Amino acid sequence: MKLKTGSEYIESLKKLKPVIYYMGKKIEDVTTHPATAPHVRAAAMTYALAGQDEYKAMATATSHLTGRTISRFTHVHQSVEDLIKKVKLLRVLGQKTGTCFQRCVGFDGINATYSVLFEMDQKHGTAFLERFKKWLIRIQDENLMVVGAMTDPKGDRSKGPAEQADPDQYLHIVERRENGIVIRGAKLHMTGAVNSHEILVMPTSAMNEASKDYAVICSVPIDAPGITMIFGRQANDSRRDFKETIDVGKPSFGAVGGEAVIVFEDVFVPTENVYMDGQTDFAGLVVQRFAAHHRSNYGACKTGLMDVLTGAVTYLTQTQGTAKGSHVRDKVTEMIHLSETLYSSSIACSAEGVPTPSGAYMVDTMLANVCKHNVTRFHFEVARLAIDLAGGFIATLPSEYDLQSEEVGHLVKKYFSGVEGIPVEDRIKIGRLIEAMTGGTAMVESMHGAGSPQAQRIMIFREGDLDKKIKMAKALAGIPKRETV
Ligand code: SF4
Ligand code: FE
Repeated sequence: MKLKTGSEYIESLKKLKPVIYYMGKKIEDVTTHPATAPHVRAAAMTYALAGQDEYKAMATATSHLTGRTISRFTHVHQSVEDLIKKVKLLRVLGQKTGTCFQRCVGFDGINATYSVLFEMDQKHGTAFLERFKKWLIRIQDENLMVVGAMTDPKGDRSKGPAEQADPDQYLHIVERRENGIVIRGAKLHMTGAVNSHEILVMPTSAMNEASKDYAVICSVPIDAPGITMIFGRQANDSRRDFKETIDVGKPSFGAVGGEAVIVFEDVFVPTENVYMDGQTDFAGLVVQRFAAHHRSNYGACKTGLMDVLTGAVTYLTQTQGTAKGSHVRDKVTEMIHLSETLYSSSIACSAEGVPTPSGAYMVDTMLANVCKHNVTRFHFEVARLAIDLAGGFIATLPSEYDLQSEEVGHLVKKYFSGVEGIPVEDRIKIGRLIEAMTGGTAMVESMHGAGSPQAQRIMIFREGDLDKKIKMAKALAGIPKRETV
C-alpha cells in the first residue's frame, strides 16, 4: 500500500471542515492561512521522509496488526530497535524543520493507550483494546495525523476534577446513550491540533472513584459537530501576515508547533470509538506512560533544533569574521557537547526500553524524565550561547523592507555587511533564524512542552529509589541494619 505523501497530506486537510478561530476570525483553510500554513508544512515533512530512500527505514515500520508498511508515527513500538529508530527520526526531522513537527503527540498517545488498555481489559474483563485496534488500523492504513489530547484546563488546581465549581474544567462524560457517550470540556496547548485528522482524548491525571465521568479515552474526528478550536498567538506571528519575508526567520516552517485550545461542546462519540469509560484506576497509568514517551522524544527533536542553532551561529561568525577566535570555538564546542549529551539521554531511555504486558515497548521512565529535564537546561544554554556569539545585532536588525528600500537599502547593505564576498543578506537571514529559534514561544515550548520541569522532578524523586541508595551508603559506612532508621 502506498503511504500518503506530504502533498497528499496537505490535500487531505483541505477536505476537512474543522471550526478554527484565530485573532477573532475563522480560519477557512489551514493549509494556506499564514498563521497555520508553516505548521502544516512542518507536519508534512513527517509524511515526506517516509518516501525518501535515505530515511525510509527510520520513517516507516511494519504494523504488528496488519503486517503492512505504515508511517512510524502510527506504529506501536515492538522492540528497543523501534524506540531507537524513532529517536533518530525525530532528530532528523528537527534538523530539517528547525521546529516542532507535531506528530509525536498522537504517536505517544497511541502507544500509551495501547499498552494500558491491554492491562485494563485483563483486570476488568473489558474488551476496549479490540475497539482501539480497529480504529488504529484505519489510522495506519490511511496514514492519518492524530492529536493526542491530554491537558485539561484544571480550574482550581487545589481541587480534583469532581470538586471543581465548574465541572467542565476537566473533560468529562455528560451523557451515556445506548450507542455512545457525550463529552464536554476542553483540552489546552494542543500541538498540531488544527492540522490533524483525528483527536485521541485521554485523561489528564490520576483519578479517584468520584471522578468516573472524567476517566475517558475516545477518538473523535477533528471536524466532529461540537468541536471548536482557538489557535494561539506566537511571538512575532504578525510578521507572517505581510508576506513570508526574511523577517520571519524560518519562512517555510513555524517557530513552534502551533498550539490550539480544543473545546468540546457536547460532542457525541459512538461506542466503537470509546476506549475507556470510568476505569479510574488506569487513568494515572495512561498519563505516566504518555508523559514518559513524550519526554523521551524531546532529547531528539530538540537536539535537531540545537544542531541547527549550532550551525547557524557558526555560519554567522564566519560572516562576521569571528569564527576562528578561540573563545568562539570553545562556545561552539560547548553547544555541540550539550546537544550530544541531550541526545544521549534520549537514546539511553530508548535503549533501556522494556516490553509491557501487551508487547508494546515502553521507554525507561526515569531516564525519560531526566532527558526532558535536561532539555529545560541544555536547550536554554545552547540558545544563550547562540545569542552570545551572534551579538546584539539580532535584536536591532532593520526589516527586510528597509533592506529592499530604494531610499535606505544601500545603507543597510553597507553597514550590516561583514566579511567581503559573503552577501549581506546571508548575515541578516541567519541572524533572523537565530532570533526565531531562541525567542519567545519556541523557548517556552521547550520549557513546558511534555510537562513543566517540576513534573519531571516529581517523577525523578519518586523513581529515585532512595531506600536502596540509603542501604548502599549504610553498607559501605558499616552501619548495621536496625528496625528503625
Ligand atoms: Fe514531537 Fe518534539 Fe513537537 Fe513534541 S515538541 S510533538 S516531541 S517535535
Ligand atoms: Fe512539544
